Amino acid sequence: MRYIILIFITSLIACTGPKENKQENTSSEQVLNVYSHRHYDADKAAFERFTEETGIKINLVKAGADELISRLEMEGENSPADVLITVDAAKLNRAKSMGLLQPVDANTNHKEGFIDPDKNWYALTYRARVIAYDKDDVDVSELSTYEDLANEKWKNKILIRSSSSSYNQSLLSSIIHENGVEAAKEWANGIVANMARDPKGGDRDQIKAIASGIGDIAVVNTYYVGLLLNSDNPEEVKAGQSVGIYFPNQEGRGGHINISGIGVTKYAPNKENTIKFIEYMTSDDIQKFYASNSFEYPVNKNVAPDSTVAAWGDFKIDDLDYAKNPELLDEAIKVFDEAGWN
Ligand code: FE
Repeated sequence: MRYIILIFITSLIACTGPKENKQENTSSEQVLNVYSHRHYDADKAAFERFTEETGIKINLVKAGADELISRLEMEGENSPADVLITVDAAKLNRAKSMGLLQPVDANTNHKEGFIDPDKNWYALTYRARVIAYDKDDVDVSELSTYEDLANEKWKNKILIRSSSSSYNQSLLSSIIHENGVEAAKEWANGIVANMARDPKGGDRDQIKAIASGIGDIAVVNTYYVGLLLNSDNPEEVKAGQSVGIYFPNQEGRGGHINISGIGVTKYAPNKENTIKFIEYMTSDDIQKFYASNSFEYPVNKNVAPDSTVAAWGDFKIDDLDYAKNPELLDEAIKVFDEAGWN
């Protein structure tokens, strides 16, 4: 019975979804249907500029990556989606491994390593997952690796968001890739034991918690610190100023990054427009716009990071092999559950 209901719901979504959402090209109107996990003001402005310059209207559906991937899977060839944008490449690789994406040839100026080798996705930006530490209470010489944060010397000092975050799932995947699943379990247990409080809020909330004395060490993406430092709200600026940025694992595999990228869906109804979109979003102009508005790292080799970001210095990047293996994500989620990491 449950199975029949599931089929019914699935076919209901498959039948009604596209009719509600699919923007038919009946007139000369050009459209691009975007499924996105990104949640930034900068996107809205960049999309508006894209429409102004190309005449292609963007229809945006925002949700978490897992939800968007399930939706693509259920909609199948009736999906209205042209592109899938995620905040981490592991999710794009998962969509790819499920046959939900297709290769396209876009003409871009990407840095090496920021395009899927099969051209199923193109990076839009990247962000480093770093250690933000309380400048007053932490001696920077005490910091070294992600692994070291499980050391009991950090008891009651660690602030980190929930394990449902793509960023944390991807970080743990990299730890499984590097150290194996048993070591990853120990690490997750150690972090849970060292938490200053139960995970809550986003990365910015972890930094604010340092500023209000709840903990000393937060694991966050760099652009959130950039957003705080450049906020109109003086309290946020103060929170941003209370922390130093430390790039972990520089003596070893390098610091973890989250690649936010654009994948072209298997059944994209407006495939030509997806290529225009990828080329536009990774153009020099728009990459500069992102660098100085969302404080992410540009993927275009002609564009430098914003001065706020550049001030943290260069760093060695983890080689990303983990992101090529979507099964690591499943393992990571299991490890988090077993560790009781909410
Ligand atoms: Fe984010």
